[in-house]
Amino acid sequence: MFTLQEKYNQLITRPKDTAKPAWGGKPAAPGSQESPLTTDLVKLILTEAVTNRASDIHIEPGKNLIRVRFRIDGKLYIVLDMAENQEIHLLARIKILANIPTDSVSSRKSWDARFSMVLLGQEYDFRISTFPVLMGEKMAIRILNKNASQVDLKKIGLRPQPYALLEQIIQRKSGLLIVSGPTGGGKTTTLYSILKHLNSPTVNIVTLENPVEYHIDGLNQCDINKKVSEDFTSALRATLRQDPDIILIGEVRDSESAEIALRASITGHFVLTSIHANSAIGTVMRLANMGIERHIIAYALAGAIYQHLVPRICEKCRTPYVVPREKFLSLCAQFGIPAHLFMESASPADKDALHLSHVSKTDEAPKEEAITFYKGAGCEICKGSGYLGMIGIFEIVQFTEDVREAIASNAPSAEIEALAVKKGFQSLSIDAMEKVKSGLIHFDDIYHILLEKQR
Ligand SMILES: [Zn+2]
Repeated sequence: MFTLQEKYNQLITRPKDTAKPAWGGKPAAPGSQESPLTTDLVKLILTEAVTNRASDIHIEPGKNLIRVRFRIDGKLYIVLDMAENQEIHLLARIKILANIPTDSVSSRKSWDARFSMVLLGQEYDFRISTFPVLMGEKMAIRILNKNASQVDLKKIGLRPQPYALLEQIIQRKSGLLIVSGPTGGGKTTTLYSILKHLNSPTVNIVTLENPVEYHIDGLNQCDINKKVSEDFTSALRATLRQDPDIILIGEVRDSESAEIALRASITGHFVLTSIHANSAIGTVMRLANMGIERHIIAYALAGAIYQHLVPRICEKCRTPYVVPREKFLSLCAQFGIPAHLFMESASPADKDALHLSHVSKTDEAPKEEAITFYKGAGCEICKGSGYLGMIGIFEIVQFTEDVREAIASNAPSAEIEALAVKKGFQSLSIDAMEKVKSGLIHFDDIYHILLEKQR
């Protein structure tokens, strides 16, 4: 499946005298951090990672062994096991590229740094994080493809209805749009594609990020990490004096930054940010728990997105399989999914029963109809994994007048959700099931997400 191990074996057994530095400079002494073997190995690992669409590289010390793993489409794969070799200084070489000290004292600290490199004609940013562990030092490398910041809003995986809802939200001149979801759930891609959608010479977009992941032309991006002289709150205040129309605040972490973000959004700015919450409507509770008054939340919020990233089934080897009707109905009942939405031939009586998720009533429903799910069988294109890329699953709520009134009057989340449903809100489970039914994702990959969301 992966060829890195094979290529590595060829690399370490090549005759020493033919080994030349990859950049064509002066040959370095064998065994040094700049030795051709080490520099070629670093280039080989990075190239293999990008050609395999890896999002992260893990370099982990073991007993007399260094292991390299790639994260591809959300899953980790072992790609290389290297026996100890005095001629290879893998971590040291990467640290030099990222300007991290390589002495032994420094290797007992954790470091964050980055570097860029052109591989196969494309420029990539690598974000390095080192971490001292029992067996030595572990390194994690996040790969940022500069083209990823160019993701079109139409291509992040929104179905027509949620897309239309989001378009209405982001057309506003003021208000707050909050994106939530787990780490690695695609929040940054969503925020960047919204900014890209709104970017034009007639608006001033200012961002406050930690760190700036992608540079986008036309945006005024501030890396909060590099602003040593100011804390987050004063940087945020300075942003407001920059005559902005649209402000991106990487993440709202405390009540003080939340309050400034909300105040900016009710004084004629459209503000985008992310927060830790476990549903779109849960954003309201999260802000309330930060001590923001409900009427201010109600007044400020324009919309909220909650999302996860799920591996996308490889189209080349996508294979249908039948799920018995009974099994499908019980899954829908378990996750509160209105099954009638996914069963074309259900009778009206059947539909009523299913809508209420009364499993007992489904006994009366016709039994013959089976449901089709899909999975990837594995092929050459997806290297046998059955997956190719990732796709978002979303829930988007627009805070319309009646939803705001409900928030201001302290209504429980269920009541707020019921009102939002009337205005087009669809839960994450419905969006996920739509994508399962249309063969974009595999049910097994959303099962635990749905299970966790119910808690
Ligand atoms: Zn395939």
